[in-house]
Amino acid sequence: MDNANTPYSPTNPRTVDFVVEPEWILPIEPAGLLLTGHALAVRDGRIEALLPTDQMRAQFSCRETFRLPGQLLMPGLVNLHCHSAMSLLRGYADDLPLMRWLQERIWPAEGALAGKEFVATGSKLAALEMLRGGTTCVNDMYFFPEETAKAMAGIGMRATLGMIVIDFPTAYAQSGDDYLAKGLQTRDDYADNALLSFCLAPHAPYTVSDPLLQRISELSAQLDVPIHIHMHETEQEIADEVVRTGMRPVDRLDRLGIIGPRTIAVHAVHLSDTEMALLARRGAHLAHCPTSNLKLGSGIANVPAWERHGITWGLGTDGAASNNRLDAWQELRHAALLAKGRSHDASALTAHRVLSAATLGGAKALGLDSKIGSLLPGKAADMIAVRLDEWIYQPCYDPVSHLVYVTGREQVSHVWVAGELLMANGVLSCANLTEVLAEAEFWRQKLLQL
Ligand SMILES: [Zn+2]
Repeated sequence: MDNANTPYSPTNPRTVDFVVEPEWILPIEPAGLLLTGHALAVRDGRIEALLPTDQMRAQFSCRETFRLPGQLLMPGLVNLHCHSAMSLLRGYADDLPLMRWLQERIWPAEGALAGKEFVATGSKLAALEMLRGGTTCVNDMYFFPEETAKAMAGIGMRATLGMIVIDFPTAYAQSGDDYLAKGLQTRDDYADNALLSFCLAPHAPYTVSDPLLQRISELSAQLDVPIHIHMHETEQEIADEVVRTGMRPVDRLDRLGIIGPRTIAVHAVHLSDTEMALLARRGAHLAHCPTSNLKLGSGIANVPAWERHGITWGLGTDGAASNNRLDAWQELRHAALLAKGRSHDASALTAHRVLSAATLGGAKALGLDSKIGSLLPGKAADMIAVRLDEWIYQPCYDPVSHLVYVTGREQVSHVWVAGELLMANGVLSCANLTEVLAEAEFWRQKLLQL
């Protein structure tokens, strides 16, 4: 039975908080390894040991054991690009190209409603949706990041919050300096929270000026924080930038010092071979958002070529307004299938490889790979259990193949962040879902009145 509460009682044991005994463990590191007959022990929020089950039982005592037959334990998924608060705009505007979608629908709605309360509700709704589906860490970019920080901290989800910068006034800030000052203040306010980290988030090359980008590049080096920026999402964006500045966006960003080992460039749908070589040389990271790119008609990123260049990348959902699910499993499947379709090579982006990108790849891009991204002893116990035993998923010859080509987010049964159990048997215990849904309904009514 799941969750059987049967403490170990060996003689002369080492004590841990809990042990998980699943059917399979996919630690992600070492690459390609899938374990059976193993157990994982957690103490003080960290992975204490990963051992054959009989050795675990002989060596450790614990308060609680999670026996999970038919389930696979793996690291929590990392969503490398999201605008959490936009979950309130899910399905509000569909079937429009990027610039019309932004200018005619999204920006006006945000202009009218996107204040602190909107961001607070949207962030909670997004965090719960992501946790329900096994995403344990999100890299976020939105206005009022202090509200998203508060929501994530309250729920117990790991997050990197973008200190957003955009070169026009909004309800959040009036000028570039104002955006930066507010973001840095939020970072200071949450300096003691072990689950939250921060990055600089200039929105995009077309919304942030040269002097501001230069300042952000200097701050990133000074504070050792990542830079999170949309880049080369559409062909139109690139053509416009060439007209405006005489340069393609990646070249301009590189000239301003933005492209480097702390960079997370989001989308990168349209890159030449030379540009990929430059990104690889600089040690920059990419966030692949396949569903958003499809839905906004932006194109299909050449991920097999990124791989050939040795670029580190992770997967993102983008905001719910352009996806419309904050569902890492959908991204995994789209990434794997699109890579094969685009390259005419069914061996492109194997199931193991795409799972590694969705966990360790995202963690590396965020500079968090010493803490999360794989189930190595010493790392934080950010992990999920996935049910592979339901009849509609039978037969199961290879659990790793099933994770990518079969699994849906409803199969995630347990979620831990830093050893805290946030969901058991598909039921979230980290927030009052009814309350959050009532708040979301309030905002739906407001949007309908616009
Ligand atoms: Zn985005």
